[in-house]
Amino acid sequence: MTIGQHIEGTTNLLSTLGLSAPRLDAELLLASCLKKDRTWLYIHSGQELSPAEAESFGFCVARRQKGEPVAYILGCKEFWSLDFAVDPRVLIPRPDTEVLVEEVLKVPGIGKISGLKILDLGTGSGAIAVVLAHELPDARITATDISPEALAVAAGNAEKNRVADRIAFLKGNLFDPVRYCLFDVIVSNPPYIDAGDYAQLSVEVKNFEPREALLAGDDGMDFYKVIVPRAACYLKAGGWLLLEIGDRQKDLIEGLFRQTGLYHDVIFRKDYAERWRVAAARRKEEKSG
Ligand code: SAM
Ligand code: GLN
Repeated sequence: MTIGQHIEGTTNLLSTLGLSAPRLDAELLLASCLKKDRTWLYIHSGQELSPAEAESFGFCVARRQKGEPVAYILGCKEFWSLDFAVDPRVLIPRPDTEVLVEEVLKVPGIGKISGLKILDLGTGSGAIAVVLAHELPDARITATDISPEALAVAAGNAEKNRVADRIAFLKGNLFDPVRYCLFDVIVSNPPYIDAGDYAQLSVEVKNFEPREALLAGDDGMDFYKVIVPRAACYLKAGGWLLLEIGDRQKDLIEGLFRQTGLYHDVIFRKDYAERWRVAAARRKEEKSG
């Protein structure tokens, strides 16, 4: 069978499973098996696959049929145009999180702060920390995660993207492993899915991605309830806390900031699908609030 026929057949097979982008999946998997890019596939669509190539493609397709995300099968995911290694030890970085990164880069004067210090809580694959280190060459970043397995992946991604010398990866619960110091910016995409929504997630997410990266108690607010008040102790006066949030959590988060009384300029931003996605707030100047 030719490359074109393999793609056609696999597209049909995957579309019967209700996957959202069956042709793209088929092309990405075949391109990866052949160590080529998708353009190469179009140009060579009439070429036959060798038996070994057809077999390795077959294994990949079988994994996809069981719902395994393409990024885990390929072992990589692009985020902010950088390449990240991913496997089931880490959440696959989402395009939504690029909106959070955009907001961090919009913090007034961020590129000019000398000795800029940033804290990333729940770094996972290291996506946020690595991109910020890449975009802000003077930044020193501390990144924590409860999962040592995730931190091993994150450290590899920092090496791969040549920013390892400016990121300290620390294992532990949120702020616990952070040696006390004040940061200019604290950023986090913590788990925020509530128990009800978690049960409704697709097989691709629920059966393959780490549960502890997503689930955050009955109302999805467990992490924010700790991060919002505690971050105030780790932020310089005028420093910014930026959080990725679930689209139905805006009012709860707004209430949490107000109740804490230590922030002002609380602002929210939607993602490109018009869902509330980022909360940002500024540490008040006086610690008394
Ligand atoms: N920052 C990555 C991103 O944006 O793609 C991963 C975000 S994922 C939604 C949340 C991360 O928080 C996971 O890597 C998980 O291991 C970590 N995590 C869960 N509980 C934690 C805790 N108590 N302290 C620190 N990290 C935690
Ligand atoms: N946006 C992610 C999802 O829908 C959730 C990320 C998180 O809990 N931080 O799978």
